[in-house]
Amino acid sequence: MDMSDIKQRLNQVLEQIHAAEEKYQRPQGSVKLLAVSKTWPLENILEAVAAGQHCFGENYVQESIAKIDTCTKKLEWHFIGHLQSNKSREIATRFDWVHSVDRIKLAKRLSQQRPTNLAPLNICLQVNVSNEPSKSGFFTDEIPEVAKQISLLPNLKLRGLMAIPARSNNFKQQRTTFRQVAALQQQLIAQGIELDTLSMGMSGDMEAAIAEGATIVRVGTAIFGPRNYPSQT
Ligand SMILES: *Cc1c(COP(=O)(O)O)cnc(C)c1O
Repeated sequence: MDMSDIKQRLNQVLEQIHAAEEKYQRPQGSVKLLAVSKTWPLENILEAVAAGQHCFGENYVQESIAKIDTCTKKLEWHFIGHLQSNKSREIATRFDWVHSVDRIKLAKRLSQQRPTNLAPLNICLQVNVSNEPSKSGFFTDEIPEVAKQISLLPNLKLRGLMAIPARSNNFKQQRTTFRQVAALQQQLIAQGIELDTLSMGMSGDMEAAIAEGATIVRVGTAIFGPRNYPSQT
């Protein structure tokens, strides 16, 4: 995609976010845009930075650390992909957030490996909201106990929940699924676990997620264009 398009499309996405905040009576500025830059080179990220974007989401360990280690700008990096335990150190030392915590063991490693001179690593628990056995994430009924345990780990800050629902083009269906994640979050808050983040909504379902309370939307395609090389791990 032509680089000047990135600025234009970023601004379009920001306008859509602000319009959705208004439409669904969300406070202005309550939804943060995470630009998902997986598969795109650092130069495209810097184009988005020049247009005012500060937070970037990455999925693949090797690809992301290559970009972070060559980037001279101080940006906020969010890891949103599946994370193997043997690669957790690379992430714990470089990232500000991990949205895709799906095992207690992974949380413990991230806490142990987080350098103590850095702020605690912000994390979200990934919820397998459609309860599909093949998908990553905790099942919804596991979440209350898991959240209690993970909230006690010293070098992490448990911020909230992340969900990647099964794809649907039906707005009502999208909302129903996101509403379940929001309800689970409220259940945890009622149990005394302080959470302020709902990471949900992508290019295809951002409006439904905002309608149901998303505080971070993770948007790739609508900003950078269609990804044209296959996913790696
Ligand atoms: C790739 C990805 C996104 C962005 O998806 P788009 O449809 O390109 O906006 C968001 N969240 C996760 C976890 C992803 O892997």
